[in-house]
Amino acid sequence: MKRILALIAGAVLFATGAHGAPDDPGLPRFRETFKELVETNTTLSVGDCTLAAQRMAARLKAAGYPDSDLHIFVPEGHPKEGGLIAILHGSDPRKKAILLLAHIDVVEAKRSDWTRDPFKLIEEGGYFYARGASDMKAQAAIWVDNMVRYREEGFHPKSSIKLALTCGEETNSALNGAGWLVSHERDLIDARLALTEGVGGYLDDQGRRVALGVLAAEKTSQNFLLESTNPGGHSSRPVADNAIYHLVRAIDRISRYEFPVELDDANRGYFSGMAKIVGGEAGAAMQAVVANPSDAKAVAILDRDVNWHAMLRTTCVATILEAGHATNALPQRARANINCRIFPGDSAASVQAKLEELVADPKISVTIPEVRGPIATPAPMTPAIMDPIRTVAAKLWPGVPVITVLEPGASDAQFLNPAGIPTYGLDGIFVDPDSGNIHGLNERVRVQSVYDGRTFLYRLVKLYAGA
Ligand SMILES: [Zn+2]
Repeated sequence: MKRILALIAGAVLFATGAHGAPDDPGLPRFRETFKELVETNTTLSVGDCTLAAQRMAARLKAAGYPDSDLHIFVPEGHPKEGGLIAILHGSDPRKKAILLLAHIDVVEAKRSDWTRDPFKLIEEGGYFYARGASDMKAQAAIWVDNMVRYREEGFHPKSSIKLALTCGEETNSALNGAGWLVSHERDLIDARLALTEGVGGYLDDQGRRVALGVLAAEKTSQNFLLESTNPGGHSSRPVADNAIYHLVRAIDRISRYEFPVELDDANRGYFSGMAKIVGGEAGAAMQAVVANPSDAKAVAILDRDVNWHAMLRTTCVATILEAGHATNALPQRARANINCRIFPGDSAASVQAKLEELVADPKISVTIPEVRGPIATPAPMTPAIMDPIRTVAAKLWPGVPVITVLEPGASDAQFLNPAGIPTYGLDGIFVDPDSGNIHGLNERVRVQSVYDGRTFLYRLVKLYAGA
């Protein structure tokens, strides 16, 4: 998943300019890499991530990487869901590595629904069109291209630079490659920081740059099951003790509850930065909340925006209801799924305790049906992380602010952060307000944005790795 954030009207804007060095001799080769990755179908249904990983490994091998630094991994029982780890060794063994992570699987796409073939890289009217053009094969191709360029130019980083291409990010039920690496190849991917897909940059509807986003924290998705059981009986003789009534009253109480506002580096940075861009009543509310998270009036203004509401706190919402077994019988069972998005650092147990308190009914159980992954912990926003981003961004896009973002959804960072690898989402690819319709029909990304993102990431990783 890539990030979609509401864009702000009336913002401070910066005109776009070409920075992609159109005469860059490496550009045609980058395009070939991108094209090959897009045109290797990596959907879960009929695609093959292992094949895509092998093709990228072949490019690295051609650039001079020895086989010993190229690791194709294929999780047992998942022959087409493999990936690649590649390593450019650093000169300073005391410095831990930089990990460049990209998922190479894509969301399903039906040729008959699309205007163009989703598995061909098509350039038209200044855009690349393809499934994965934006989420996230452009960045995956940039990572591969980076690794090739560093090797060819004889770049000797202090820190090792590691590339991880993985499968299974886009489908909840699929095996997740990043999660698999954490549990099976933790040493191989060990790093002091990881970079992966993020919020990109924001363009307004005129194509002008508004801000560059850095994803610093994500929430954790956790389901809770509410269940009420009852002996039931004939519906002609109703009684007050009814499983459905117990359940709907509990859900009603949950629906009226707001978890308290929490601030961490990511959302504090977001609201501080966006306050100046947004201005007006919302901008003032952002500043007020950062100064005092219990400012109820300011919180109420921000809560009008679903995205800001979700960035401020843990949220829980009823997503599935099942109850009753016959139209003429008192229900013997009623259950609801409550999907919570837990604020970084909070525990599932504390949310469960709050739900039990809200349910306040011994006839209803609150359980956790399945734990998908560990609770997300926020990655620290230190100067060592932020300064290089600001330095490179200021050169490429003078005056465009860099804004940290707390993401209400979740990506592969959910596996790496708890494993002790702080993970940041950014690609330097500026996208339109519709975010290029990622996951949807006719996914697209601006050609120049991809080229600029390539320049940005090439320079940024060099700064992190040190010369
Ligand atoms: Zn993605």
